[in-house]
Amino acid sequence: MSLAYRGRLAPSPTGLLHLGHARTFWIAYQRALAARGTLVMRNEDLDPQRSKTEFAQAMLEDLRWLGIEWQEGPDGGGPYAPYEQSQRRELYREAWKRLVKMQVVYPCRCSRKDLARSAQAPHDEDDEPIYPGTCRPSKKVDVPDSPAGMNWRFRVRDGEEVGFADGHFGRRSYIAGRDFGDFLVWRRDDVPAYQLAVVVDDAAMRITEVVRGADLLRSTARQILLYRALGLREPAWYHCPLVTDEHGQRLAKRHDALSLRALRERGVRPEEVLEILHPNPASIR
Ligand code: GLU
Repeated sequence: MSLAYRGRLAPSPTGLLHLGHARTFWIAYQRALAARGTLVMRNEDLDPQRSKTEFAQAMLEDLRWLGIEWQEGPDGGGPYAPYEQSQRRELYREAWKRLVKMQVVYPCRCSRKDLARSAQAPHDEDDEPIYPGTCRPSKKVDVPDSPAGMNWRFRVRDGEEVGFADGHFGRRSYIAGRDFGDFLVWRRDDVPAYQLAVVVDDAAMRITEVVRGADLLRSTARQILLYRALGLREPAWYHCPLVTDEHGQRLAKRHDALSLRALRERGVRPEEVLEILHPNPASIR
C-alpha cells in the first residue's frame, strides 16, 4: 500500500525569501498537487538570534502572493496548525536523550575557534566543517538531564557509505568521515541543531517526500544516519537545482534585490516570477 503524499515547506525566518526559495517551494507545491497530497508549512524558527517574526510573517505572505497553498501549519487551517519549531523543543530533547542512551552522540567542548584552526574547511559555504574528532569519547558517555552547555555530536562511522535515490539527481552517495564528519545535533547555546530538528519533525509530520534545495544534499546523508539510529521511516528525497545570479553565485538572503518582497514592490506580478523561474513548465519533473 502506498502512503498518501505529504510534503512540506520549511523556510527559516532569517531573511526575506528570494527567487531560489520561490523555485524550490514552487516545485514542492507542484509535486504535492500532482500527487493530490497534503502540504505542510513549518516555520523553522529555532535559532533565537537569527529568527525574526517579521520575516516569518513576510515569508507566509510572499508565498501566498506567489500562489502557493498549504493545508497544515501557520496560516493553513489544518488540524495541527501552527507548526513552529520553537514550540517543539521537547520533542527534539526526547530524541537527543534517546541518542545519548544509545551512545551514538557525545558531548563536545571544542569552540568555534578550535574548529576553525583544524585544517578541513566546509564543502559548502554554510555547511559544517569536518570535525577532527577531538572530543570523541573512549568510554561510556553519561546521560545528563539536559543537553545545555555543551555541543553534542553524532558519531559517524568513518568510511561508511550513505546512499539514497534522489527524485531529481538520481543515485547519490556520500562517505562518512570524508564528505561530512561527526555533526551537531545540539548546540552549546541550548539550540537543537537543524539536522536533529528536521528529522524529528519530518518523521512526526509523516512527510513522505522531502523537497528542498540541492545545497542540502550532503545533509540528507547525515539525516539518513539519524533516521536509522532513531528507527524512523526515511522519506523519499527530491533536491532542486539552485538558482544562481549572473556570476554563477547561488542566491542567498543577501541578494535582497531578488527577494520576492522587492520584486513585488517593483510591481512584478506573480505570473512573471513563475515565468522567470520556469520558462518551460514541462521541465519540472
Ligand atoms: N529551514 C531550512 C532552510 O531554510 C531548510 C530545511 C529543509 O528543507 O530541510 O534552509
